[in-house]
Amino acid sequence: DLPMVHRRAAHYDRLYGGLLVDGFNEESCHSRYQSAAYRRNPGRRPSPYLVSKLRRHEALQRRCGPGTAAYSAALEQLRSGRSAASPAECAYVISISYRGIGNRILAAASAFLYAVLTGRALLVDPGNEMDDLFCEPFPNTTWLLPPAGFPLPDYANFSVGTAASYGNMVRNKVIIRGDGDGDDAPTTAAQPLPAFAYVHLNYDATVEDNSFFCGGDQRLLRRIQWLVMRTDSYIVPGLFLVPEFREELAALFPERDAVFHHLGRYLFHPNNHVWGLVTRYYDTYLASARQRVGIQVRVFGGMPDSPELLEQITSCTRKEGLLPQVLAAGEPISPASRAKSKAVLVTSLKSWYYEELKSMYWEHATATGEVVSVHQPSHEEYQRSGAASHDRKAWAEIYLLSLTDVLVTSGRSTFGYVAQGLAGVRPWVLYKPANSSAAVPDPPCGRDVSMEPCFHKPPGHDCRLKQWADPSKDVPYIQHCDDAIWGLKLV
Ligand code: GDP
Repeated sequence: DLPMVHRRAAHYDRLYGGLLVDGFNEESCHSRYQSAAYRRNPGRRPSPYLVSKLRRHEALQRRCGPGTAAYSAALEQLRSGRSAASPAECAYVISISYRGIGNRILAAASAFLYAVLTGRALLVDPGNEMDDLFCEPFPNTTWLLPPAGFPLPDYANFSVGTAASYGNMVRNKVIIRGDGDGDDAPTTAAQPLPAFAYVHLNYDATVEDNSFFCGGDQRLLRRIQWLVMRTDSYIVPGLFLVPEFREELAALFPERDAVFHHLGRYLFHPNNHVWGLVTRYYDTYLASARQRVGIQVRVFGGMPDSPELLEQITSCTRKEGLLPQVLAAGEPISPASRAKSKAVLVTSLKSWYYEELKSMYWEHATATGEVVSVHQPSHEEYQRSGAASHDRKAWAEIYLLSLTDVLVTSGRSTFGYVAQGLAGVRPWVLYKPANSSAAVPDPPCGRDVSMEPCFHKPPGHDCRLKQWADPSKDVPYIQHCDDAIWGLKLV
């Protein structure tokens, strides 16, 4: 039995232009083939080259994944501590899962693109509920790292100080880097390399850690069979800075502002439990409206309710024409029209903003006669990342935001980034006030330049010149982010 929207929108493309592959057991993951039916905005089409590359990568994941002979051999090599003399059949990148679900999704998407570019199999750390939120993205294998018997039992605690990090091995001359200009092969080809390296691409990455984004270092890393990667951000704009990757990236993503859009729709399918949360809510509260407006209000547990932030939200939606103005008492009322209904989906840890918006549209008529309903699925009050029911709600709410037609997001939030990318829309971003004067910023919000997430802490070091440099200067499709001026994003 297909859900109602499914039957209504008979023309949708359930495989998103070949991004998804047919042939999965549909019962095991309803969202994979149903989600397109819930999207008014079909989104961008993947390039034929991306589609064929994904099929080849799926074959690689099957050939190298847990349970295969190649995987057992690679584990053996890892236990030995040394790289094999001849190139091994399979190499791996493990994505550590930590922080909020937005961070975890961006980290996994980043590691996946790196895996595709370097011919590695991606394995995701199942920690922090990552094994209980998503369906398997690759057919007939698993993307989850089996913890039992894995020779690096402490990998999820690796940090900037870990001796086996690429940055520390470079600093301590365990690995001898070339001069960084990409011409260092003769000096490095002979050196024995470890079987694994930890790549620390976190907000506190050092200059040496960030040499990951240099061409010569990528040639070294290619010879290390196992990489464990930690990032709390979206490092993809940094991959576009690596000369060795540029040509391939251009072929995969001729539309550079839609990289996460495709990666996200390819990788992250809510599992059946979360899909139930998404579809029951959507069908009950959002489906029948003429237009859906998502408003993500990112607040933190200890913060008091802020009338200034509420004012910022309402003046943003009013000035940008996203929601109708309300009339003051005594003003002449235009007849209400159900045909012009709008449903507002508010997501937040707090309920106060939603309560205020809902009251506003109950107590006052709208100037246009539009009918506005306001909804908020949950208000968890405090962030409890890694707790099952909390994370499932958070993931369901990100997904619901991605099913809205118009998005208002909070600046610098990975939660909002994931929603906008899956949706395929450029959001209106509520900028954080420049100082803590608590005044409402003017303008209250701005239209984002692209739907791409922002890489919050990009490398600022030129590989060749060995000095600080602004990479956005040389690459026309990379800009600084409006919501985090030191960050970089694809446009
Ligand atoms: P970021 O911190 O804004 O970049 O987003 P993250 O998703 O990485 O971390 C925030 C975490 O706080 C989420 O994963 C949720 O656990 C929780 N959270 C924040 N906002 C919301 C919300 O609107 N709804 C729900 N259910 N949880 C939220």
